[in-house]
Amino acid sequence: MKRNKHLAKLKRGYLFPEIGKRKREFLEKNPDVNLISLGIGDTTEPIPPSISRAMSKAALQLGEETTYSGYGPEQGREDLRQQIAAVLYNNQVKPSEVFVSDGAKCDIGRLQLLMGDDIAVGIQDPAYPVYVDGTIMHGVTSIHFMACTPHNRFFPDISQLPPLEVIYFCSPNNPTGAVATRPQLEELVDYARRNKSILLFDTAYAAYIQDPTLPRSIFEIPGAREVAIETSSFSKIAGFTGVRLGWTVVPEELKYEDGSYVKADWNRIMTTLFNGASNIAQAGGLAILQPQGQQETTALARFYMENAQIIKSALTGLGLTVYGGDNAPYLWVDFKGRNSWEVFQELLEECHLVATPGSGFGPAGEGFMRFSAFGHREQVLEAADRLKAFSLIA
Ligand code: PLP
Repeated sequence: MKRNKHLAKLKRGYLFPEIGKRKREFLEKNPDVNLISLGIGDTTEPIPPSISRAMSKAALQLGEETTYSGYGPEQGREDLRQQIAAVLYNNQVKPSEVFVSDGAKCDIGRLQLLMGDDIAVGIQDPAYPVYVDGTIMHGVTSIHFMACTPHNRFFPDISQLPPLEVIYFCSPNNPTGAVATRPQLEELVDYARRNKSILLFDTAYAAYIQDPTLPRSIFEIPGAREVAIETSSFSKIAGFTGVRLGWTVVPEELKYEDGSYVKADWNRIMTTLFNGASNIAQAGGLAILQPQGQQETTALARFYMENAQIIKSALTGLGLTVYGGDNAPYLWVDFKGRNSWEVFQELLEECHLVATPGSGFGPAGEGFMRFSAFGHREQVLEAADRLKAFSLIA
């Protein structure tokens, strides 16, 4: 069999395997060290009680003849799609436009199938690595990196963008923790309307937005329904990273340049290549959207945001400039032009801490490190103490 030639174009070593390798090497030489990871963006706290109970009940129902169910509706349970539309989108989207899935990453991969390979794609730099690698695997060669740095307040200069057919945009952003404001998103939607582009908007971290003036969805912006697809996830809301549940919203109005409807194709792709999200996971998703689930998940987000503040104050105490962490579970720390992997190694060896090198998220991430707010409280406090005792970095 011939290999997909585009796979050879991927840069060697995905970021997290490289971090894992360096950690293992360090621990082999220093087996007694208690490493603390503020690196990978995985959740650490248990799934809240009303939600895990709903999933246990759903699992037990599968063991009874009267309540057993097999394949569910292809687009996801109707009641879950209604609740997503009502609770998370204030009915600005219709349940029929919501496609429940096994997670945002999987949907980002499948969304590639909507696109031709002879298109120009815009991607934030730095960004969640899946956008770039997925685009390359699909055979797209024209990738325009939109630098998002403190100099432009983490929002690209839209007036300088070439015509792009697809733009990936993530807000709150992984890794910078930046959240686009309403005027910024209006500018982005206006660009997409003028250029007939499609925005692939990722809101996997929307639940962490604390400031009520910041948009939680692209569909809060007038005109977005004609130019945007939104992908989101229960992973970071409720500790569902292992449960696997997300969704994508494709508005009815959204069309390709030839005037045909995108939603019809997305439906075709999903019904061909995906067989519905787990019925146990969907029962959990419904519980998240009930009043008790909402209370519990709000408290969970607050807990992680307190972690963010603890780490932030330790880092600012070292004289470092820290971005993010106020409306996102990530802190983006400026190490004053130092090489990211060098800082990674220093934090590993001197503080026994793991953080993520900014350069792993794109060239504009060089000189920065990403600290994640996901962690048990005692470990976060210990990490903050280790940082405070560490003067070499600054
Ligand atoms: N989008 C962003 C920006 C992420 O950081 C992540 C996970 O880290 C995902 C999507 C993946 O979400 P899921 O667990 O639903 O696949």
